[in-house]
Amino acid sequence: MDPIHRLEYFFTQFPGVGARQSRRFVYYLLKQQPQHLNELSRLIAQLPDLVSECADCHRFFPKRGNHQDRCPVCTDAQRDVSQLLIVEKDADLEAIERAHAYNGYYFVLGGTLGILEKNPERVIRMNELRKLIARKQSLKEVIVATAVTPESEHTGDYIHEALRDDAASRGYSVTTLGRGISTGSEIEYADADTLRNAIIGRK
Ligand SMILES: [Zn+2]
Repeated sequence: MDPIHRLEYFFTQFPGVGARQSRRFVYYLLKQQPQHLNELSRLIAQLPDLVSECADCHRFFPKRGNHQDRCPVCTDAQRDVSQLLIVEKDADLEAIERAHAYNGYYFVLGGTLGILEKNPERVIRMNELRKLIARKQSLKEVIVATAVTPESEHTGDYIHEALRDDAASRGYSVTTLGRGISTGSEIEYADADTLRNAIIGRK
């Protein structure tokens, strides 16, 4: 394969990018200065060294030291240890942080479940979630903050069901965000007031 088609192929692997768009990306790059291309490729190559996945919440965060394996939220001792809020993706966590409506800890699922998904544990981080919850001795509430789309609601139902027995035996509750986030919308795009109300109105 020639370089243009190889690069096009790489872009078609990106989420939401089709063949036409990937061709536009390649031609955009072809028009850039070599210095710009070098900077871009260097940044991509350095990502594994510059960014870590948090061992607790699994969000990505910029590394500051060599042996740092937990993000600034998970290492913040001022947070409320009784609460754990579950989101689908990093961008949702960032939106909730920006809304300043929540002061507990987080967990990033890393995806949503298709209605017919046969291996949920392979699509979302259920095993990691169970392990984190098991380590949290003072846990009183797990808040499921999935979006209002059929797949996300299905994912939320699955988590409620999966945690039911553990929650009953250990005495923590599993709640869901309240109304306010409109149908079809993503947490990541909800405004701060809406998120604040949804967290306050959780049930
Ligand atoms: Zn973390």
